[in-house]
Parts: sequence; C-alpha cells; structure tokens
Amino acid sequence: MQCALASLRVVPPALSAKPRYVRHLLLTLLMLALVFGCGYAGYRISEKAGIRGLTESGERQLELNARAVESEITKYTYLPSLLELESNVSRLLLTPDGYRRQRVNDYLEGLNRRSGSLAIYVMDTDGRVVATSNWRQSDSYLGEDLSFRAYFQDAILGESGRFYGIGSTVGEAGYYLSHGLKANGRIIGVAVVKIRLDALEQRWQRARLEAYVSDENGIIILSSNPERRLKAVRPLNAEIKERLARSLQYHWSSLDELIPLARTELGAGTEQVTFAAGAPGSQDHAINYLAQTRPLEDTPWHLTLLSPLQDLRREAISHGMLAAAAFALLTFLLIAWNERRKVIATRLAAREALQTANNQLERRIADRTADLRASNDRLKAEIHERRQTENDLRKTQDELVQAGKLAVIGQMSTSIAHELNQPLAALRTLSGNTIRFLSRGSYDVATTNLQTINELVDRMGRITASLRAFARRSNDGGEASVGKAVEAALQVVQPRLERTPLNIHHQFEDARLAINQTRLEQILINLIANAVDAMGFQADRQLWLQGNVDGDRYRLRVRDNGPGILPADREHLFEPFFTTKPGEQGLGLGLTLSASLASAAGGSLSAEHPPQGGTAFELNLPLAATVMETPDE
Ligand code: ADP
Repeated sequence: MQCALASLRVVPPALSAKPRYVRHLLLTLLMLALVFGCGYAGYRISEKAGIRGLTESGERQLELNARAVESEITKYTYLPSLLELESNVSRLLLTPDGYRRQRVNDYLEGLNRRSGSLAIYVMDTDGRVVATSNWRQSDSYLGEDLSFRAYFQDAILGESGRFYGIGSTVGEAGYYLSHGLKANGRIIGVAVVKIRLDALEQRWQRARLEAYVSDENGIIILSSNPERRLKAVRPLNAEIKERLARSLQYHWSSLDELIPLARTELGAGTEQVTFAAGAPGSQDHAINYLAQTRPLEDTPWHLTLLSPLQDLRREAISHGMLAAAAFALLTFLLIAWNERRKVIATRLAAREALQTANNQLERRIADRTADLRASNDRLKAEIHERRQTENDLRKTQDELVQAGKLAVIGQMSTSIAHELNQPLAALRTLSGNTIRFLSRGSYDVATTNLQTINELVDRMGRITASLRAFARRSNDGGEASVGKAVEAALQVVQPRLERTPLNIHHQFEDARLAINQTRLEQILINLIANAVDAMGFQADRQLWLQGNVDGDRYRLRVRDNGPGILPADREHLFEPFFTTKPGEQGLGLGLTLSASLASAAGGSLSAEHPPQGGTAFELNLPLAATVMETPDE
C-alpha cells in the first residue's frame, strides 16, 4: 500500500497535467453537448406544443370553413328539384314547342338571376338541353347534347347529381347540381343548376387562408392559391387520366400531381407536408404546412386547410435557443457556485490549519515557557546555593588566610621578639644613661640619647604597624584589576619617584586576578619601592612592568636594571627582617609579607636574576574566573 502511494506521488508533473487537460476538454465537450441537447429538446417540445396548438386552432378553422363551403353548396341543392313544380317545364318536356321553350327560357333566366347561380337549364331524357337561362347568349347551351355528363347520367337514374367540371361550351368551371324531373312517377327530363364557387376562393384569399377542396378524383377544384387548382393530390394512373380526359370534366387540363416534397402523417386527417414555394423541386424555398383534411357533407369532396409552420418553427428555434442559453447560464452559475464553494472550503481548511498550527504553537510556547520558568527557578536556586557556597568558601578561605597569616607571624615570633628586644634593651640602656647625663647637666649627650631613643621607638612602631597591617582580618577574597593596582601603587610611591626619577615601561595586559585589590597594591608597592631603592645610586634607572595571561594564571614581572642581589643574599630574601639596606632604612619584612599574601591568594612570588643584570620579581596569581569555577572541579 505504501509503495503504491509512493509510486502515485512520484508521477511527473507533465504526466499528471495531461489527464487534467483531457478531463477539462471532455468536460467542456460534455457541457457543449448538454447545451445543444437542451436546446434541441427545447426546440422539439416547443415545436410539438406549437403543432398541438396549431392543430387545435386549425381544426376549428377547418370546421368553420367546411361549414361555409357546405352552406354555399346546400343553398342551391333545392333549386333543381324546384323546377319539378313548374308546370311549364314538365309541359315542355312532355310536348316540346317553341312557345313553351321560350316561356321556360324566360322563367329560367329570371330564376338564375335571382338565385345568383351561373346557369339553370333543363335537358330531355336524351341529354339535350331544351331550355336554359342563358338562351340569349351566343354560346348558349340550348340544343347541346350533354348526355355524357355524369350529373346527367346520375339524375336520369333518379339520383341527385353532383358534379364539378369545366364547361365544355365556354370552358367555365362550375359546380353542377342535377335532379331528375318526374311526371307520373317517370323521369321526363333533368334539371341542372350550375353554380360558381369562386367566392369561396376569394374569401380565403382575403382571410389569408391557405385551403383547397379536392373532389372525388383527388383533383383540386377550389384553391386559395390558383397555382394548385386542377392539380391531383394523389397519383392518378393512366387509365383514370384517360377516362377523365375523355369525360372533359376538367376540360383540357393536364391534371398534374401536387406532389409535396415531404409528407409526415401526424394523425387521422392531419399531416405535415412540405411544398416548394418557388421553383418546383427547389428545397431552398420549401414551406412546411400542417395539412388538415375533412370530408364535406353532401359531397364526395374534401376540404384541406394548410397552416404554415415556419412561424411556429421560428418560435420553436427561439425557444430552443432560450432553453440552451438558460441551461448554459444555469451550468455557468452551478460551476461558479461550485468553484466558490471550493474556494471557501479551501479557505476554511487553511484557516483551520492555521488555527491548529497556532494552537500547537501556543501550546508549545506555553510548555517551553513552563520549562524555561522551571529551569529558571532551578537556576535561581542553584545560583543562590552557589552564592551560599561561595560565601561559605570565602569565609573559610578568609579563615584559612587569617590562620596562615597568624601562622607566619607565629613563625616570625622569635625574630620579632629578637627585633623588638634589641631596641628595648638599647632603650633601657639609653634611658638610664640619659638620666645620668641630665643629672650631670650634660644636656647635649642627653639630647642625642633621646633622639636615638626616638628613632628606636619609631622603628619598633614601624615593625608593629607592618605586622598589624599584615595580620589584620580583612576580606582577602574578591578580584583585583592589574591596571588599577599598578596605577594605585605608582601613586603611593610617587613622592619617592620624584626624588629618584626613573623610566617606567608599561608592558602588561590588563586582567582581573583572584586577589583582594588592596593586597595586590601592597605587593606591588613593596616590589616597586625595593627596585627604586636598589637603583638609587645609578644614573640610568629603568623599571619594566610586564604581565601576561598564561593559561588560567597571570604572570606579573617587576624588573629593574639595578645592581642585582648578591648570590649569598639570594637565599635569605624571603626571610623576615633580612635587609641589606643601611641604617634604619629597611625592616626586612617587605618580601616576606608579600610572598605570604601571594600564597594566601593561591599564588606565589619568586625572584629572578637575569644574566644581563638587575633583578626581577615574578608574581604568579590565578585569574579571577578560574577561581570562581574552582568549587565545581
Ligand atoms: P627591606 O626593604 O626592608 O630591606 P625587604 O624584605 O623588602 O626588606 O628586602 C630584603 C632585601 O632584599 C633588601 O634589603 C635588599 O638587599 C634585597 N632586595 C630586595 N629587592 C631588591 C632589588 N630590587 N634589588 C637589589 N636588592 C633587593
């Protein structure tokens, strides 16, 4: 599973981008297909609904117009039978003569005028016209043999003749209604009324209605469009064509077929037909119609109403486009909504992730702060403990130093006693002598003795002062700055330097040492003062103050170019009261006490005797920091 995930993760970007691109393309194509599909569905639904609506309104129209045609015809149906009541007509048929013919001609003429028909005429049983309303006209039917006409043949058999035809005499189209005239139960002749139906065509044209009436032979006899007139609505075979041609029913018309470009049956009496509008057969100007046909009562005819479909189609197309646009808009809104939802979801997720990260961070900070506080408290406690320890140590160290110093004084006690006893003995002797010289009046000698006593007391005072200073309990710990100590020491010996000027070379680096500042100054004062004393009798006086850090120690050298120390004296340098200085100048305590102070601070003081001459004293002390860390080690 892990491997499968890993392999999925390492798909190169180029390969992963391709399916996305293909997916987008497919989605776009699908969307387009759906938009077109929706548009087409909208078109079809609209067209279907439109056709349904058109069919319903067409049916009403058809019914209305059919009634109009029927009433136009039926208002004449009684007319031929009316002639049976006219005695002149039957008389003429039974015994024809000129007088009766004229009377009937006049009668028919008047009747024709009043009824508005085309012509009314009477035939004998042979089919010959014996009287007619148009007897005055040159092309009158009078005497014509019309026995070949179907309406005659029907009427002579006692049936009512109904016939549409084009007149053989003048070629005028008309509708013939015939009736067999009876006398004493026998047919003695036939009465015919020819009527025109052009008024119907004109009415349709005025109403911009496309309609036609086809007769029993399928020939259009009435049409709002004159071009369709006398066209066959169904195919005619050669035999029928010949029969019709022979009957001269349609005069000499060619009876071409009105063949639609397309025809779709929609229901009983309803179909969708396409006729060429322009040149025959041209698809460019094809017009679609909804054709509704209904038989006309009392005739073998059919009325067909043509309702153009192009408006409906146009409307359906606009509905389809509207549906496609609505679908596209809806899809667009859905996509936009989905994208927005995704963006909001991503933002929410990012905010949540940020919040989680923030919470984690805060928790971590709180944990870390708590840790830090705890370790800070621990550190504080440790520092407190260390300070305590350090104080304890310092106290102990002070105690030790003090004990060391007292031990040194203890060691020196014999020498001290000796050093003090000598002047004391001298004082006793001198004071005794002085009393005697005073009693004798030798004031000069007594004065000299008193001066000597004074000097001896001074010396004794100096010795005790030095020892007291050394033995004094003080804070022997702490830190000392080398620079400051050198500066302070030079200031103290300044009066002597004024008397004995010398060249001082400062060649030391500053550092902080683990020794009391005053103690370091005391040591330096002793060393510098000794060097000054040693160089007192020479002209060229050089003093080098050199110092450098050496690991965790500091080496401070005080070197002079004085006479140096005799080898015999070198081993006694650090002994108490050893001095080579004449008279009362030296106490011989300086080096002893300085070495003792250095060793109390964990250091040492040693003398060197450079081959080029002079003397150097090296003070070796620990650096301040190293002493602080000592308790840890
Ligand atoms: P004091 O100075 O009182 O004599 P010190 O203990 O300071 O006592 O010195 C002891 C002796 O060491 C001095 O008397 C002197 O002989 C010798 N000495 C100390 N420093 C020097 C020096 N820089 N050059 C020569 N001799 C010195």
